[in-house]
Amino acid sequence: MPISKQYNYSLLGHNTMGIDVKAQQFITYDTVDELKEVLREIAGRPILHIGRGSNLLFTRDFEGVVLHSSIKFTQIVMRNQREVVVRVGAGVVWDDFCAQMAQNNFYGSENLSHIPGEVGAAAVQNIGAYGVEVESIIQEVETIEIATGSRRVFHVSQCEYHYRESVFKNKLRGQYVVTAVVFKLSVTPVVHLDYGQLQDLKALPHTPSAQDIRDAVIAIRRSKLPEPDQLGSAGSFFKNPVVPIELFNDIAATHHEVPHYAIDEKQIKIPAAWLIEQCGWKGKCHGGAAVYEKQPLIIVNKNHATSSDIMELASLIQQSVYDTFKINIYPEVNYI
Ligand SMILES: Cc1cc2nc3c(=O)[nH]c(=O)nc-3n(C[C@H](O)[C@H](O)[C@H](O)COP(=O)(O)OP(=O)(O)OC[C@H]3O[C@@H](n4cnc5c(N)ncnc54)[C@H](O)[C@@H]3O)c2cc1C
Repeated sequence: MPISKQYNYSLLGHNTMGIDVKAQQFITYDTVDELKEVLREIAGRPILHIGRGSNLLFTRDFEGVVLHSSIKFTQIVMRNQREVVVRVGAGVVWDDFCAQMAQNNFYGSENLSHIPGEVGAAAVQNIGAYGVEVESIIQEVETIEIATGSRRVFHVSQCEYHYRESVFKNKLRGQYVVTAVVFKLSVTPVVHLDYGQLQDLKALPHTPSAQDIRDAVIAIRRSKLPEPDQLGSAGSFFKNPVVPIELFNDIAATHHEVPHYAIDEKQIKIPAAWLIEQCGWKGKCHGGAAVYEKQPLIIVNKNHATSSDIMELASLIQQSVYDTFKINIYPEVNYI
């Protein structure tokens, strides 16, 4: 398919929250050369590059050009007895990539199965689940600089990855389009089974295959998380806060059961879902938006929610968590 251009285009089908806003122009492209051509044509106009829109909250019409990649290929560039290096187009659906890797019994992406979105965004977002973050399997991120059209390859050490963050979300936000990602996976078993129900796999008489782990991850996710085609959401709405140990100790004095993970000797991470649930938000509605009953970290579009419903609900939650625990929680979702 050549470059496709649409005008005054509804983004309803391009965000999992189900918000109906319009883009002045919507362009999809298939190749890096087409992307460069498009960038020359639209130089100077506001640009937003999206994947599947599964971590976006559109708050208004986008007065500019929304770009979407259809660069789709999966190419094995190196394989030896221990490792395999796979180069993948940014427009490939993330879970299709995970499925393919598991079928080949390549280890590395299986814990990240069933996360909505595309490969390019996975590298921007540093997606993570069940004890694994994608940075652990990324070798390089191939990009095109929006301002110049020139190619730049970021080695993983240049991506400034940490919890749900990358250089592409911060310092270089909006400056580069990811065109492909190079992953290094393991041909021999390297398993991460310490998270919750995944521990059941430790009881197997053999080392679980990548497919065993993928199947278990999908089953857990289906039981806990809303499926985007059935109930609108953008996944975890807030990041888990990291607090000073003194504040954690104050909370633990009255809430002995507070779940927590030590970051270092001075800082503790507390699940935002627990804080939100303690404040009584589980299942609560605000307009058409609601806090998901099975997982209070997720705001769902229960009944034709507007972006205002969702933003107001998010603010009310933030305020009540602060009033109760003196902890600020911040959105993981990108407000556009
Ligand atoms: C039900 C549900 C469950 C989820 N579970 C998880 C989870 O377990 N773990 C997790 O980490 N996330 C999770 N998410 C969030 C989401 O799936 C990820 O953030 C995902 O990476 C977003 O991919 P996307 O293609 O939809 O990107 P978008 O939401 O479209 O975009 C995300 C960001 O990436 C940028 N971007 C997209 N493509 C490119 C590109 N080619 N070049 C440059 N920038 C680009 C966008 O500008 C934006 O800033 C979940 C979401 C939902 C709806």
